Order: sequence, then structure tokens, then C-alpha cells
Amino acid sequence: MNATKDTDWNALADDEFRQHIRSFLEANYPSELRYPARRLFWNEIGFWYRKMSELGWIAPNWPREHGGMGLDPTKLLIFYEEHERWGVSRFADMGILMVGPVLIKHGTPAQQQQWLPKIIACENLWCQGYSEPNAGSDLASLRTEAVPDGDHYVINGQKIWTTLAQDATHIFVLARTDKDAKKQAGISFFLVDMADPGIRVRPIRDVAGHSELCEVFLENVRVPASNLVGAPNDGWNIAKALLSFERIFVGSPKYPNYALGVLARVAEARGIQDDPAFVELFARLRMSVEDHTACYARFIEIVKRGEQLPPDVSMLKIISTESFQAIADQVIRAAGEVAQLSGMVSLGATELDVLGPFFRALPSTIYGGTNEIQRNVLARDVLRLP
Ligand SMILES: Cc1cc2nc3c(=O)[nH]c(=O)nc-3n(C[C@H](O)[C@H](O)[C@H](O)COP(=O)(O)OP(=O)(O)OC[C@H]3O[C@@H](n4cnc5c(N)ncnc54)[C@H](O)[C@@H]3O)c2cc1C
Repeated sequence: MNATKDTDWNALADDEFRQHIRSFLEANYPSELRYPARRLFWNEIGFWYRKMSELGWIAPNWPREHGGMGLDPTKLLIFYEEHERWGVSRFADMGILMVGPVLIKHGTPAQQQQWLPKIIACENLWCQGYSEPNAGSDLASLRTEAVPDGDHYVINGQKIWTTLAQDATHIFVLARTDKDAKKQAGISFFLVDMADPGIRVRPIRDVAGHSELCEVFLENVRVPASNLVGAPNDGWNIAKALLSFERIFVGSPKYPNYALGVLARVAEARGIQDDPAFVELFARLRMSVEDHTACYARFIEIVKRGEQLPPDVSMLKIISTESFQAIADQVIRAAGEVAQLSGMVSLGATELDVLGPFFRALPSTIYGGTNEIQRNVLARDVLRLP
């Protein structure tokens, strides 16, 4: 089909839409960048997202009047499923996934005009400044402070675990604006330019030797009052709305499926794919991923109906991340002694990153709400335990 920026995607049959996205990715996305073992930096993947921007595909979740594809929930899921299936790398996409939707819902027309087109054009890349050294699971204890000063706020504090802050031109920050209010009630949501001289970014080297997470220090950062989104002290409600989006996407079977794919390739490269013990193990893992996929599909149906996700959606994240870790462990066992080496290793004629799934699986039980917190939600809101 001949698609243009004006194509009404929602008018297509779901299968036709899926086929169009699939064929495009298969024909155009570079095969060497499929399923990268880490989040790619802008200098590695920016060319692809500029292309998506030119095509009008950069913001599938935004309404058309703001430059998005305006996909309905079913088409949006198909769009993401096809990207996951083909192993397309994400970039510093917090602008598309978080800032844009927040501004569309809570921003003033002036804020929308100022910020949205630059996100669509990939001129502004955003990172998420929520977590602090003593405020992760208990985010509402955050201590970064914003004090009014004329028509500005002055922000001081520190953020941590900020994904791809080194690529970002902007950061959205939760900061305390009322120290006397109940802790959730005194927080505001700010849009901050990373070029401000008071901002310092320090990358954190992780166990895999990568530096996709950073610390961000804010020292007397002057932010125009017009960069406050929503009402002063109402930032907690905005932050919560954003996190509800994460709850379903962190629970998708994409990572367990990716790890299963690596396991199959390792087994083939080592010639153990027909070994009865391996066949039994692989079948067991595969069946548990199928169970997970069926469970995920049940929640997807709820999203498609436009209904609110129930609290038992928390189980998806637990199942997904623990299954990802279990399969990543088996990749290491199947690879044998080369699993001691990080990066690409030779297994027969095949080059594989056998530690990649392990390093990606390790932090997955932490981000997007730790698995202990998800279990608390299940205990309190589903099982009604005392
Ligand atoms: C890969 C990765 C990317 C991230 N990206 C970002 C980002 O871009 N921006 C951002 O703001 N943050 C980001 N984070 C931070 C993430 O949101 C926090 O790490 C997470 O909220 C946990 O907070 P914490 O690290 O302070 O751990 P803590 O909250 O201190 O928890 C430590 C341990 O105690 C447990 N625990 C805490 N409270 C309870 C409780 N009430 N009941 C039972 N157990 C509990 C936790 O489960 C955990 O095991 C990222 C984290 C990771 C790993």
C-alpha cells in the first residue's frame, strides 16, 4: 500500500495494518541493530528515529492534531508488538511516551505549542527525573526542592538512575514546592532544559560496563514558572498517571521471548538443540512464556475496551521479569565456558552476546516499580491481606 502522513491508519483492517508495519520494519530496520543487548545511544540509533519522524511514525500514541499517528488502542498495540517482534531498539523516548501525553492532557495551549513540535521533530530528547538517592519505591519522599523567585523557580537537588540523561536535551523533574504539606501533596512537575549551567550529568557504569543510567545534579537551576505543568503542588497526580502506562508495558512477554530466541540460537550453535534434556527444558520455558502471553492478552483486551486496568495487572510485571531472568540464566548454562565473556563471543560459526539477556534481565525486577512493590499491591488490593 502507498502510505502517506495523511493515511487514516485506523480505517485499515488490523491485519493489513500489521502487515504494513511488519514489511516496513523487515525491509528497512538494520539487521545488525535488532535486539541490541543494551539501550542504544542517540548517535547509534538517532538516524532511525529521524526517519520515523519524517515518515510521521514517531508518535504512534499521540493524536493527529499534535503530529502523532492517532492510533486507536488496538492499532497502537499492533504497532508496538511489531516493533518488539522485530527487536527494534528504543531511544531516549520519554518525550514521546511521557512528556507529550502529559502536555496533551495537562499542558496549556502555549506549552503544547512550545514543546510538542520539537519532540516530534526529534529536536528535544527527554529524560525522566523522578528517582532520588533516598526516594525510589517511596518516591513521595523526594527532596529536590523548587523555590519560587519572581517569574522563575530555583531548583536544587539530585536525581539518580536517570536513563540516557547524557543524550537528553531536557529533563522532567518532580520537585517539592511545599515542605509543609502531606508529602504527596507538596510536589510539582517541571520541564527543565539540560543546557542550564546548574545541571551536571554523571553517568553510572553498570555491571555490564555500560553507562545508560546517570546521576543528575541540579544546583540553583532557574526554570521559568511557565515550565510548571498543571497546578503548583499537583505534580504527584501527573506522575501517577504516567506510571499507569508503564504497568502494562513492563509486563509484556517481549523480553522473555527475546531471551528464548537467544537460548535457541545458543543451543543450535553448541549442537545441543536435540538433546532430550535441553528439549525438555526449552519446552518447559516456552510453555511458561505461552502462559504469560495468554495472561498478557487478557489485560490487553481491557486496554482495548478503554477500561481502567485492575490492580492484578501487577502480576504481569512479576511474571515477565522473573521469567526473563530464569531464561537468561539458562542461556548462560547452555553457552558453557564462553558465558564468562561479555560482549560478542564466537560459538561455532555464530557470533552471539550470551551475557546480554542476563545483563538486561538483572535490573528488570527493579525498574517500573520493583517486584516487591508489585507484590505489595497484589497483597493489599487483590488478596486484601491485612
Ligand atoms: C534500568 C533502570 C532504569 C531506570 N530509569 C529511571 C529513570 O529514567 N528515571 C527515574 O526517575 N528512575 C529510574 N529508575 C529508578 C527506579 O525507578 C528505582 O530504582 C525504583 O523505583 C526502586 O527504587 P530504589 O532503587 O531507590 O530502591 P528502593 O526503593 O530503596 O528499594 C530497595 C529494595 O527494597 C525493597 N522495598 C522498598 N520498599 C519496600 C516496601 N514497601 N515493601 C517491600 N519491599 C520494599 C525494594 O523492592 C528493593 O528490593 C531506573 C531503574 C533501573 C534499574
